[in-house]
Amino acid sequence: MRLILLGPPGAGKGTQAARLVAKYGIPQLSTGDMLRAAVAAGTPVGLQAKAVMESGGLVSDEIVIGIVADRIEEADAKKGFILDGFPRTVAQAVALDTMLGEKGVKLNAVLEFIVDQNALVGRIVKRAEEAKAAGQPVRKDDDPEVFKTRLAAYNRDTAIVAPYYEKTGLLKKIDGMQPIDTVTEAMMKALG
Ligand code: AMP
Repeated sequence: MRLILLGPPGAGKGTQAARLVAKYGIPQLSTGDMLRAAVAAGTPVGLQAKAVMESGGLVSDEIVIGIVADRIEEADAKKGFILDGFPRTVAQAVALDTMLGEKGVKLNAVLEFIVDQNALVGRIVKRAEEAKAAGQPVRKDDDPEVFKTRLAAYNRDTAIVAPYYEKTGLLKKIDGMQPIDTVTEAMMKALG
């Protein structure tokens, strides 16, 4: 199973990805997680990505495409994967098509979480509070002002990725404003 999860930041992609991991036994490939790990480790990629991530902008297509190309070559991704946070631009989607084409494999579905953007700032504030209460690190970009920049980046560069997949018939729209378990049910049903 090869899946893509699309939707603005705070739409629930990470939460739902964890449930797909449990069901299908395939890894969640979150470019955000990979980039945060690179920043924490101080790698050359991390050094380049740090400032742009903290400001809420998008890391360059070149860097992100390189990370994903390496990651999908790893053994655990051979059976399938759930892409979370990638592709975020049409150029990334085109690059992914090329990568998969070269490997002779196809995507099974692209799930788009449809959400009311006005509700997202509240969700992000809650995510930051919950992380803090659990003693986990709070993401620097889960700040209401930075979040607005992330949402603007989504609307400018990423919103057009869903129509790209709609043309291929792979896109499945899921109402992401429902309770978490209901979203999971809708998602599993859409995957058949
Ligand atoms: P996320 O965890 O998906 O919200 O990503 C956090 C941040 O990492 C984003 O705001 C971007 O700065 C960067 N990022 C993650 N994935 C991508 C991507 N596919 N393309 C460009 N930047 C990305």
